[in-house]
Amino acid sequence: MTLLSSLLAQTGFSDADILALLRLEDETDIAQLRQAAFEVATREVGNSVYCRGLVEISNLCVRDCLYCGIRKSNHAISRYSLDAQTVIEAATWAARTGYGSCVLQAGERQDAAFVRFIEDCVREIKQRTISETLPQGLGITLSLGEQSLETYRRWFNAGAHRYLLRIETSSPALFARIHPREQSIKSRLQALADLASVGFQVGTGVMIGLPEQTLEDLAADIRFFADRDIDMIGMGPYITATGGAMTDESMMPSHDLLQLSLKMIAVTRLVLRDVNIAATTALQTLAADGRERGIAFGANVVMPNMTPVEARANYQLYDGKVCLNESREECSGCLARRILSVGRHVGHNAWGDSKHYGRRNDARDTPKNSLQSRQR
Ligand code: SF4
Repeated sequence: MTLLSSLLAQTGFSDADILALLRLEDETDIAQLRQAAFEVATREVGNSVYCRGLVEISNLCVRDCLYCGIRKSNHAISRYSLDAQTVIEAATWAARTGYGSCVLQAGERQDAAFVRFIEDCVREIKQRTISETLPQGLGITLSLGEQSLETYRRWFNAGAHRYLLRIETSSPALFARIHPREQSIKSRLQALADLASVGFQVGTGVMIGLPEQTLEDLAADIRFFADRDIDMIGMGPYITATGGAMTDESMMPSHDLLQLSLKMIAVTRLVLRDVNIAATTALQTLAADGRERGIAFGANVVMPNMTPVEARANYQLYDGKVCLNESREECSGCLARRILSVGRHVGHNAWGDSKHYGRRNDARDTPKNSLQSRQR
């Protein structure tokens, strides 16, 4: 057995192991890493890839993240907010199409009208999507930024059960470098803790290839996911955004950036094992087959876009976002082909929840957790 083979066969990884895997450069070694991550994914989370139909509800945002194309200081884009009927119609289409889950995403807002709007949409989607194939309705993931504990509770009680809140980097120095002064990593960490305390399946993730980011930073990010008992991971390459405040800083060459992003997926799979990991759309900006390569490196979730085509061009967190003009029907067929092409099945009519979430709750023996009883 080679050194690499024995490293890949481990079930526990030190920080030095993680770093050694992220440092792999030889194509044969990377292929071996990919194969190991694919096998662990198959064993731990199964052969299905789950679709979360994505609705980008609004590009209004009160934040000013320096890397983001829809930050509040970008006055060059048209701002939009979908009405409730459009959001609910998109979600019911997802349910009819067999996606099993949707993601409601928007720029960050904490005002009362927005909180109520989301609460009403979630409740309505739940009610309207209960069927024989989805007896508990569509699974709902929210990706709506930092909110108060009370808001998280309201949205959870309305029926959402997963929440994605990317930390972008676990390095306090790097976090401070890419956010304005009023945003703190401390409050992001508190929000992640609040989400878990409410009962959400908690997702987070980081940007890969940030200026001045080191491999040690990325290895620490993976350790952070493990230490925080994170259920779902959504990582993406750092791609510059017109309208962001970091356009003068160069990004990594596409090939290197894609390779590093794929290695991050694979190593995260090896270390965390039973979590859900998304093959994010940004991978496809770097290579036409970026998302299927993400699946081949251990991802098991994709997010087909269901936002009305007229709105999509104004929801570009980074440049070069793909699938801006395809209808949701086209996205659905295209993604299914991509999933099949790498030997996975599409997980139809199932929430596809994080196995890690189930196990960590079992371990804590919390039968009172209402979500668990709803799911089983
Ligand atoms: S990353 Fe999110 S919170 Fe930050 S500016 Fe963009 S949409 Fe707003």
